[in-house]
Amino acid sequence: MSERIHPKPVNIREIFIKFSTEEQCLEYVEKMRWPDGIVRCPTCGDKNVKRVMRTAESKNKRPWFYLCLNKDCHQQFSPTAGTLFADSHLPLIVWFHAIGLLLNAKKGISAKQLQRDLGIGGYKTAWYLNHRIREAMAESDPKQLGGIVEIDETYLGGRVRGQGVKFAKKQKHVVMGAVQRGGNLRLRHIPDAKIDTVSGFIKATLSPDVERVMTDHASIYPAILKPEFVDRHERVNHIVGEYVRGDVTTNSIESAFSLLKRGVIGQFHKLSGKHLHRYLAEFEYRFNHRTDADVFIGTVQRLCGFKPFALRGTHF
Ligand SMILES: [Zn+2]
Repeated sequence: MSERIHPKPVNIREIFIKFSTEEQCLEYVEKMRWPDGIVRCPTCGDKNVKRVMRTAESKNKRPWFYLCLNKDCHQQFSPTAGTLFADSHLPLIVWFHAIGLLLNAKKGISAKQLQRDLGIGGYKTAWYLNHRIREAMAESDPKQLGGIVEIDETYLGGRVRGQGVKFAKKQKHVVMGAVQRGGNLRLRHIPDAKIDTVSGFIKATLSPDVERVMTDHASIYPAILKPEFVDRHERVNHIVGEYVRGDVTTNSIESAFSLLKRGVIGQFHKLSGKHLHRYLAEFEYRFNHRTDADVFIGTVQRLCGFKPFALRGTHF
């Protein structure tokens, strides 16, 4: 099974050249915001607006802003108003370059690395930047998977030095994965691996008209796939050394898991379940856009249309 699981590389050099100044980035956001080139006041909708360039004394953090000339409004607004970039003091160029680096990092990029690569002042700032981009990558209404789907579960985190095995088990996070051959990946952090919980994932993920469902020999699956999918269920028995039988394998989902694990190991000293879903969203996004030539632009667009989620102590 030679399926592409790694994303096409994003040309970082091209991004760095195309977006090498703050003005170029703002111009770009402006074009996405008002594709017809007519800037409108977001408060009153008036097109009678004036561009005001930032001066040395100006409090505005962007290179320019607009002033609505409607005498009843007089609102000042930035092209970034209402986007994810709006309440950030970070230059747009840092956001743009961070997006490029994140997309290109097969295993993701740690906040520390992002901080180093982009010369960001504080670790926390880099951390928020990383998580906000991840959050924007999350699919709000994921489509169900059809065709041939491989399903598996994996465990992340676990033993921390100095703690016992019993504690380690409690610390483990269950991640369910499903991948449609030649299609999309779904990764979900679920609270436990009990039948009801896994069933919830399967129901949400599998299309009722899926052709075939492939899993390993774990005893939980026949029960979970009953009755709806049981006639389409095929298994490989890893215990007896069987990994491929005809086209029955779970190799695609296992490759996805192994990449995920290598990423997680590099980034989380102590894996926090609280933020895991965002990391999974990032991973899923890279996989699902692996053949998309305009993934960089698409991602910037997502951030332009994305309402920020509330993070405590957001201070950049
Ligand atoms: Zn106005």
